[in-house]
Amino acid sequence: MNEFVELKRPDAAQLSGAATRAEVLHERYGELEDEALLRVMLEWEYQGRIALVSSFGAEAAVLLDMVARIDPATPVIFIDTGKLFHHTLTYRDILVRRLGLTDVRSIAPAPFDLAGHDPDAALWQNNLNLCCYLRKVLPLERALAGFDAWITGRKRDHGGERGGLQTIEAVDGRIRFNPLAHWSQGNIDDAFRERGLPRHPLNDAGYASIGCTPCTEPAKADADARAGRWRGNAKSECGIHHPRWS
Ligand code: SF4
Repeated sequence: MNEFVELKRPDAAQLSGAATRAEVLHERYGELEDEALLRVMLEWEYQGRIALVSSFGAEAAVLLDMVARIDPATPVIFIDTGKLFHHTLTYRDILVRRLGLTDVRSIAPAPFDLAGHDPDAALWQNNLNLCCYLRKVLPLERALAGFDAWITGRKRDHGGERGGLQTIEAVDGRIRFNPLAHWSQGNIDDAFRERGLPRHPLNDAGYASIGCTPCTEPAKADADARAGRWRGNAKSECGIHHPRWS
């Protein structure tokens, strides 16, 4: 894909520097989790150089609430693919007001990428990976320019390739934190209750994980947290978390 939509490859020093840095952070903070890890990174190690990337999906409110309690001015990047449920956009606005977040950056695919490769907005019908690349991977990579680290809400409990997730990673020349890596679905449910957080409007309709409208379906009650995404297809990740160069 890179042959027609270029992404700048980090140089070797950037890649190895991030790997070394991740080892140091592991030694210092490998025992920390959730809010304790977030606080150290937001207030000390990466102050002003770190962003939270949030889907404002089914579980997102918990991590957003933790970040807002530490620093509501933390940059939050939200990828509006142009294919999201309108419920998600409404939920984003509700949470932004409720949590007092002051720097939520809603980013979108570049018009020239879509004009060149998805002019009918139907690319998802025959090339899911390229559609995700144009609508998610490229916009996020551009939005992360200038940040040295970012935060995700991924959890081992989601299964699949997330099963071995670490709280601190080096990826493509940046540090990535997964402060809820060890959390279970029960932890998430408890946190929603204890913090009095509103659920995504589609939660009650049976959606376990909520992405784009063409690629998301309700899941059975006992299904895993990622069920209902790209049903009938081997794909289980959109690609924003996949390393490209490291
Ligand atoms: S989830 Fe589906 S519609 Fe959304 S970017 Fe990926 S392939 Fe396209």
